[in-house]
Amino acid sequence: MGEFDLIARYFTRPVRRSPLGVGDDCALLQPGPGMQLAVSTDMLVEGRHFLSTVDPRALGHKALAVNLSDLAACGARPLAFTLALALPQVDEAWLEGFSEGLFALADAHACELVGGDTTRGPLAINITVFGEVPAGQALLRSGARPGDDLWVSGTLGDARLALEAFRGTVSLPQAAFEAARARLERPTPRVALGLALRGVASAAIDVSDGLLGDLGHVLRRSKVGATLEAGCAPRLLDALRHGLALPPERIEDLVFAGGDDYELAFTAPPGRRAAVEAAAAATGTPVLRIGRVDAEPGLRLHDAQQRPLTRRFAGFDHFGA
Ligand code: ADP
Ligand code: MG
Repeated sequence: MGEFDLIARYFTRPVRRSPLGVGDDCALLQPGPGMQLAVSTDMLVEGRHFLSTVDPRALGHKALAVNLSDLAACGARPLAFTLALALPQVDEAWLEGFSEGLFALADAHACELVGGDTTRGPLAINITVFGEVPAGQALLRSGARPGDDLWVSGTLGDARLALEAFRGTVSLPQAAFEAARARLERPTPRVALGLALRGVASAAIDVSDGLLGDLGHVLRRSKVGATLEAGCAPRLLDALRHGLALPPERIEDLVFAGGDDYELAFTAPPGRRAAVEAAAAATGTPVLRIGRVDAEPGLRLHDAQQRPLTRRFAGFDHFGA
């Protein structure tokens, strides 16, 4: 099968809202009146971002999910995406599965594939997403203010836990492994929550590299600091609800420094707590208040007795910097 047959067979679908999709030199997009385009790109490379043994359906899902997660963090509504693929060979079973997982998530978010590039090479997937957001209303990293609450959606640490299980550094009960594996391979981009947080959250980011690190980006951009309640960690690791027991420090490492979570971390004034809860309820997304923003720069962790935690976190070596 040649390049053009492959594109026609697996990656060409009629577009509904974009004026022009796959097949010409450019795709054409039409954001609504008064809308700004939100654009983000994320690359997944075999061996670095996914295991070569992963189910191609899950890979198709994840390649788009990590990109939709960036739109979610900006409060943007998905419109379209492009797909650049490097493939070592034409494996039709792989392409079938990959495109199925990809389009299932794309359809769920009415996000259209409008173009891309296909080449031979070591397996790599690069997706660029385009979304729209009313001018001036995008959620940014720079909007956190002292006194704001710090929130996080969903659960944290389970993706990293699954990776550790695959590496053999931890052994999990079957139910906990399945739950963690689903979080690693099929993350849920929090698009609906991001949209509902427009006008409510003061700043937002999606958690891809671990909460402490990603929160650090928000704090630096906003020129503020934060204090986090370490006691919230066991409430955030989903595997603990599936028969797993772990020492507290291990739980904290996973939750605060795990990565690959694709949850939203965001800030909002205390006066907007009811609005945050309403956004969470309306979109069926759990949220948890995990700390507060301070004027003093840096990120501090407190235990339940309000004592500062100063230890280093596995996978996060510039804590406190
Ligand atoms: P060009 O020569 O202009 O780069 P190509 O020959 O690479 O165009 O691609 C032909 C058409 O197929 C273009 O519209 C391009 O956007 C689309 N395309 C190529 N690869 C993919 C892909 N993996 N997914 C979706 N569309 C693709
Ligand atoms: Mg090309």
